[in-house]
Amino acid sequence: MMDPFQTRVPLEFVGILPEGIKYFSRHGKDFLVVENVLCPNGHSLMVDAVRINGEPTIRIGVEIGPQKGNFFIDSFWGSHEKLYDFIPALNAAPVVVKALCPVCGTSLMVEDRCRVSGCGTREHILLTLPGGKNKIFVCGRLGCPGHRLEVQSAPHDLVEKISEINYFGSSEDDFFGGI
Ligand SMILES: [Zn+2]
Ligand SMILES: [Zn+2]
Repeated sequence: MMDPFQTRVPLEFVGILPEGIKYFSRHGKDFLVVENVLCPNGHSLMVDAVRINGEPTIRIGVEIGPQKGNFFIDSFWGSHEKLYDFIPALNAAPVVVKALCPVCGTSLMVEDRCRVSGCGTREHILLTLPGGKNKIFVCGRLGCPGHRLEVQSAPHDLVEKISEINYFGSSEDDFFGGI
């Protein structure tokens, strides 16, 4: 079982939250929630009409082999719940998605090495926080919980702690757990 205190949000970070991420407490637990992320051309990826856990979702266009559709991703940091508007045809082989902006079609894929043990995937989905300097990198492999926050003005160690927050989807047999 996961120690719930591993998911505590360091208080130092709450004091220097980057634009686009909000903090709140619910039932004695604290959460970071993505309020706004953008494509490289500045289109917001947030969708108000599709909600998970009561919050707007992050919509990305995805291509899995010949299939195309959208993912609506939970905006709670460390959660990996999501909805689909298509049914991905999956088999046992690892699947790496290609993500794009649903507005302008620009690729969201960048290179970054996933640090989750046993993954190492290099294809990552880039979600840009408002202002363009702060970024979220999400491992492109379906089922992998790998994600990393990059905040220019925050101490490196602190941001590392945030990147380690994962509530769900850390189990290998949860195929849909990641992203
Ligand atoms: Zn765009
Ligand atoms: Zn990964």
